Amino acid sequence: MKYGLRTKLSISYIFVALVCVALITLFSNALLEKQFKEYTIKNQDSKDKAIVSQITQQYMINEKWQSNVIESIGVNALESGMIVKVTDKSGSIVWDAMKYNNGYCEQMISHISRNMADRYPELKGGYVSVEFPVKNAFEEVGKVQISYYGPYFYNDNDLAFINTLNKLLLGAGILSMAFALITGIIMAKRLSLPISRVIRTAGMISKGYYSDRIAGTSNTKEIMQLTSTINDLADTLQNQEVLRKRLTADVAHELRTPLAALQGHLEAMIDGIWKADLERLKSCHDEVIRINRMVGDLERLARFEGENLNLDKSEFDITDRIRSIIKSSEIEFITKDITVDLYGEAQKINADSDKISQVIVNLLSNALKYTPAGGKTEVNVSGSEHNVDIVISDNGMGIPSEDLPYIFERFYRADKSRNRSTGGAGIGLTISKAIVDAHKGNISVKSELNKGTVFTVSLPRHMG
Ligand code: ADP
Repeated sequence: MKYGLRTKLSISYIFVALVCVALITLFSNALLEKQFKEYTIKNQDSKDKAIVSQITQQYMINEKWQSNVIESIGVNALESGMIVKVTDKSGSIVWDAMKYNNGYCEQMISHISRNMADRYPELKGGYVSVEFPVKNAFEEVGKVQISYYGPYFYNDNDLAFINTLNKLLLGAGILSMAFALITGIIMAKRLSLPISRVIRTAGMISKGYYSDRIAGTSNTKEIMQLTSTINDLADTLQNQEVLRKRLTADVAHELRTPLAALQGHLEAMIDGIWKADLERLKSCHDEVIRINRMVGDLERLARFEGENLNLDKSEFDITDRIRSIIKSSEIEFITKDITVDLYGEAQKINADSDKISQVIVNLLSNALKYTPAGGKTEVNVSGSEHNVDIVISDNGMGIPSEDLPYIFERFYRADKSRNRSTGGAGIGLTISKAIVDAHKGNISVKSELNKGTVFTVSLPRHMG
């Protein structure tokens, strides 16, 4: 059975409160009772002494027992749960509470015994008697016997006090539990509400509503992180979705143009409108070649984007490599009246020479393609202890800023209206990025429309 966060949190809050309150009640109760017991025992002692001293004083006044005074002392004591008996020197009774009011004494004994036995059965108490001598200046003149429930007892006032104390503790316990419950519910609500929001939106995103975002903030760090992660995930999915749709549309469009031309040509020839001469057949053949190139591009891309792009690594001088690439394509630059210059010293790097060359070729051919006649291209190679940076810049047409984030995506072309045969299929940069990534390097772009473009490839000298 699965419980919600709210239920779980509320239950744990109540549980913690319950345990705390129970422990506090138990400890304070035990402590209070212990203190109260010690106080009662001490108090009993001083009460005994007070009775004996009162009786001794009465005797000392005129060396005689005055039973009416002793009676008032005894009745007072009786009301506090003590049975007093006074005997003279010869042992004959001067005053005895049991004799004075036997019924009341019995009633009190049974009342206190019942109270104490009910409440503290483990005490196994009973009535005990203590004897104290009454002395004048020279000799012992009699005895005072005080009987009470021992080892200690609580009278009705004491018990009422203990009961009030217990009620207070219970009240505090119930109040703190109610407080814990309310706090628990509020806390749980505060936590579960944003999580429910995340769940709801994540559910919508998983159903394909990629534009949904989690609104609202939370002051819980983890929830904020979760929210922004899900929102980022939605961004990525939305971008992927846009690219996927564009990819399908692009592939279809890319194929349709040569296919439509081919179909038109063939139909015209079948219908006899056109003669199937060499020129027409050659034009059909050109279209087939375009289709084939397109399919080839797709295949190449799949290979480069495959997870295990195998690298055949060796150590070589990248500046030297770039120099020979520029040499072999120099004629194309000269033909288009674009200058191409290389700056930088020799930089040794351990990488797949062919694949890195492919990256340079792609970037250079883009610079050539997208720079109008009279422009210039520059390649700068520089190195640090761990990295080699290759910067390829041109002063050509540039890339609109809204297209910049996508140019490394498959089939993405900044200028869609451009002639497809001049521009490539839009996979050159995708392949370049796949190669750089496989080398654990980084490729980035900066561009300004109609001003120029700068590509920076950063490669580790030695891959870890
Ligand atoms: P393509 O085969 O179309 O050149 P790429 O993947 O090499 O494909 O480049 C993707 C897009 O990026 C290009 O279509 C172009 O719009 C833009 N681009 C790349 N390099 C440059 C550059 N040096 N100057 C201007 N635009 C560029």
